[in-house]
Amino acid sequence: MDTKVRVRFAPSPTGPLHIGGVRTALYNYLFAKKHNGDFLLRIEDTDQTRFVEGAEDYIKESLEWCGISYDEGPEKPGDCGPYRQSERKAIYVDYVDKLLETGRAYYAFDTEEELDAKRKEAEKEGTKFSYGPKNRDTLNNSLNLTSIQLNEKLSNGEDYVIRFKTKTSKTLELYDEIRGFIEVDTEVLDDKILFKSDGMPTYHLANIVDDHLMKITHVIRGEEWLPSLPLHVSIYEAFGWEVPKFAHLPLILKPSGKGKLSKRDGDQLGFPVFPLEWKDPKTGSLSSGYREEGYFPETLINMLALLGWNDGTDQEFFNLETLVQKFELTRVHKSGAKFDPEKTEWFQHHYLQEQPLEQLSSEYLNFLAEKEIYPDKAYTEVVVKTIRERASFVSQFWDASYFYFEAPKHFDEKSAKKAWKKDTAEWMRALIGKLESLEDFSQTFVQTEVKDWIQTQGLGFGKIMQPLRLALVGAMQGPDVFHIASSIGKEEVISRLNFAIETLS
Ligand code: GLU
Repeated sequence: MDTKVRVRFAPSPTGPLHIGGVRTALYNYLFAKKHNGDFLLRIEDTDQTRFVEGAEDYIKESLEWCGISYDEGPEKPGDCGPYRQSERKAIYVDYVDKLLETGRAYYAFDTEEELDAKRKEAEKEGTKFSYGPKNRDTLNNSLNLTSIQLNEKLSNGEDYVIRFKTKTSKTLELYDEIRGFIEVDTEVLDDKILFKSDGMPTYHLANIVDDHLMKITHVIRGEEWLPSLPLHVSIYEAFGWEVPKFAHLPLILKPSGKGKLSKRDGDQLGFPVFPLEWKDPKTGSLSSGYREEGYFPETLINMLALLGWNDGTDQEFFNLETLVQKFELTRVHKSGAKFDPEKTEWFQHHYLQEQPLEQLSSEYLNFLAEKEIYPDKAYTEVVVKTIRERASFVSQFWDASYFYFEAPKHFDEKSAKKAWKKDTAEWMRALIGKLESLEDFSQTFVQTEVKDWIQTQGLGFGKIMQPLRLALVGAMQGPDVFHIASSIGKEEVISRLNFAIETLS
């Protein structure tokens, strides 16, 4: 029997989740669901100095809003919990002890000052200090101490860290599902810290131990972790554990293609880089979020899915379900993916057209209520249905439809100049006479009657239609004039015509 696919999203709660993180979660989710596997959420909070209040809740709320649900996680216990690393401290102690016993890790007592001095020395010589196979024999660590000396230091309570002992002269053959084979000479690696004297493991140790204990089969994560791959594979080997498969996702680049899309870019360039709005608990500063800006989660999902992946066809619209069917790790690109805010808006326009009319209308009704406008629900639905194609956000409905709810208070100057001539007032008075005579005020009836009337007067359509639109809307925009007329009703049409005559003549 094949082993069940198990993947995880393992964010550190150090701030709001960047959309790059949401994409990592999404690809993991898609891969898991495609293979009937499990998707886990693990909170990597071992670095207490970087812990940010509210960040974990933010991560969970973001995933929920996007519809990326996990099978196991902090509030969804499975067989491998707890799923928050700060609650697994005792586990890591046991495992680092194993590495110490087998000689694959060692205690290092070098103080910060000592290491700083070494760094400065190396800098002077134009090199970079690195704690590893080449110099560890000359440094202040247990490799150079007798067991009696070591025990003495430990019982004296001296500060220490535990470092991984990288193998010397070994070529590692690594494989990445997206990038293929990578060869690394272990000589270039340093002996990374696995455990700190505060009793906490570092990311590297905790991440490997947990991936192993949580039976993770595929590690899918951002490209920034690729440099850690040799170390991670070495740690698996040191434990004698099977190595999971790895896939490092391409970077998300700025719209210009120059450099990584950073947290600061969004607010500078005018689009959100976070799924939800985030208020920094320390500074109080606010970063915009897709949800609060009125985007649909479908938009964000579709946009993120295509940032680094496609299905090999020209298809551009994908919802979560179709993505699950189509997603392949092998179709993830190697090179960075340029973030494209205009494309995002294009997706948003599409998904706005797909939303249930009732939902859009009820959102619009809330918006209108804030303006103390309380129209009929059915009426609002008709309006939304008519103008939704002109909008990408519910917040754009008002500009596209205010004239269904209130009379224009002024007239666009340019349009007035173009549409309102010397004899227009006279013709509009005649038009009022015509409209008054109509028994039926349905769109098609008014349209036929008015058009016939224009023809019998021997006029061009523009001569009547343009000022009529101007009177009803206040500008040269909006859907079919007869739709507007029949929606607001005969009396209102006549009153707006009279107001235009008074104002513009
Ligand atoms: N905690 C790491 C992060 O914040 C996870 C990296 C990984 O997935 O291995 O990105």
